[in-house]
Amino acid sequence: MIRILSVSKSFVSGNETVQVLKDASFFLPDSAFYAVTGPSGSGKSTLLNLAAGLIVPESGSVFFDQTDIAAYDEDARTRFRGKHVAFVFQQFHLVPNLTVEENVELPLRLNGLSRRFETEAILGRVGLLGKEKRYPFELSGGEQQRVAIARAFVGNVPYLFMDEPTGNLDKKNADSVMDLIGELRGETEISILAITHDDSVAARADKRFRVGEGKVEEV
Ligand code: ADP
Ligand code: MG
Repeated sequence: MIRILSVSKSFVSGNETVQVLKDASFFLPDSAFYAVTGPSGSGKSTLLNLAAGLIVPESGSVFFDQTDIAAYDEDARTRFRGKHVAFVFQQFHLVPNLTVEENVELPLRLNGLSRRFETEAILGRVGLLGKEKRYPFELSGGEQQRVAIARAFVGNVPYLFMDEPTGNLDKKNADSVMDLIGELRGETEISILAITHDDSVAARADKRFRVGEGKVEEV
């Protein structure tokens, strides 16, 4: 379980300070799928970046079970993140000079994760068998996002964070990507946090939250 407790985070730009989160709290239970919505600039990505230890709050805690990663230094957070969190982003974020199968295997190699699926099996599940040796530029957007999903599920990480996973996909590809995530989720104990503007993504979540005025509230 992730417990974000009373975090505050501001950014300085020029001579202005923007208080993005103020004493905000948010819990993600084990095996839950929670969606986070909110206006552009409200702090959704900041919440996800804090939860992932990509940034640290000025005050407050970010507990993964009993471990407060907000108290870790950057190296320790990076190692912790690699073992615990997989990501799916709007812009896919595949490594351009690696093939499909190399992209999928990257978290196993980089973070020493144990496997959840054989690479061939997970590529079959996401409909990419026969395209293992292609490079990302040789794939459609929907295919690239399905590689990112295979990469997210191949290693045995407990958390999946998605920032606008369907933001660059048409309705058909968005539905197929979310169907896949739903199926794979059902076969694992993974917990999912998804930031989305897409009502059809939010509708699939167990609960929906809104970021605004510095807080995170269930809606
Ligand atoms: P959202 O994802 O909801 O659109 P963000 O969390 O990305 O919003 O950003 C919230 C606010 O914080 C915005 O005003 C944004 O400009 C500001 N912000 C986010 N990251 C930084 C940063 N690294 N430096 C300065 N300002 C930032
Ligand atoms: Mg954002």
